[in-house]
Amino acid sequence: MKQIGITTTVPIEVLLAAGYQPVDLNNIFITDPNPDKLVNIAERAGFPLNTCTWIKGIYGVCISRKIDTVLCVTTGDCSNTIMLMEVLKLKKLKVIPFAYPEKPDKEKMHQALKNLAESLGTTIEAAEVINARIKPARKAVWKLDELTWRNNQVTGYENHLWLVSSSDFNRDDVTYTGQLDKLVAECRQRLSYPDNWLRLGYIGVPPVFASDFFNYLEDNEAHVVFNEIQHQFSMPSPGESLAEQYTSYTYPYSIYDRLKDIKKEARKRHLDGIIHYVQAFCHRGIGDIIFRESLGLPMLTLEGNQEFYLTQHIKTRIEAFLDMIRRKRARL
Ligand code: SF4
Repeated sequence: MKQIGITTTVPIEVLLAAGYQPVDLNNIFITDPNPDKLVNIAERAGFPLNTCTWIKGIYGVCISRKIDTVLCVTTGDCSNTIMLMEVLKLKKLKVIPFAYPEKPDKEKMHQALKNLAESLGTTIEAAEVINARIKPARKAVWKLDELTWRNNQVTGYENHLWLVSSSDFNRDDVTYTGQLDKLVAECRQRLSYPDNWLRLGYIGVPPVFASDFFNYLEDNEAHVVFNEIQHQFSMPSPGESLAEQYTSYTYPYSIYDRLKDIKKEARKRHLDGIIHYVQAFCHRGIGDIIFRESLGLPMLTLEGNQEFYLTQHIKTRIEAFLDMIRRKRARL
């Protein structure tokens, strides 16, 4: 299959129906043994130092892996992607634009999927067949998520990793499903986390320092039982059609749609507090004002930039936050 780079979660069913193998460029970037090198490729090409690290990393992956076709989301993701797209065109990559509707609207979503399918030489009907074919992968990742918050048997990092990878199923949904089924069976045999551990939610774009972050929280007896955007990437509300599935997907739409989902999941998963991650130079950081006023739970905002590990400063802030929640819990 011919590879197609994706810059965020997109309707991969349409790409697969058109004979492409979707490759999530973010995941390739962040799992690279040397992500700094990929960022350097972008900076040497002229990306300003104050450009978001994810954008620079995506560019670095395209160039170093010789990706020649990229699907870029022009509405519903990131304004920086628009200019990234122009630079990729300059470098002679084939760029296919895709726009989510401005608001969640099933009819408009259907039309957007139809347009994408036609531009790639396939149909929505063929994409629905793929949707049915990859259902075992989606069911396996939902099961892992449920074991995370209901049974407390899955680490926050495992939850993050497998949910974030559902954007392209690690480029092979059959292998992904097999590996995940094995992990789910193994998790069922584990002891649950103790009841006195804190239960946290993580909201915001995926962090650049993921493994350090989740492990550090667990070293301090705090378990992340909700990874908001990663959970959305797994398409938790599939409905009856692709148009419904991508209409219920909250990430491309207003922050208030995300807020409703976060509040619902916070109640369901009995969260003690929330960590909001913002990426340096990202417009989404402004949304922190809204989350702070609306969530009604203790919240810590952390900003990451280009350090792929937790700095001592961030560790101290996490410890103080966990301490504060524990003291609050003890007073109740
Ligand atoms: S973190 Fe923000 S600025 Fe960076 S790619 Fe994502 S949405 Fe865009």
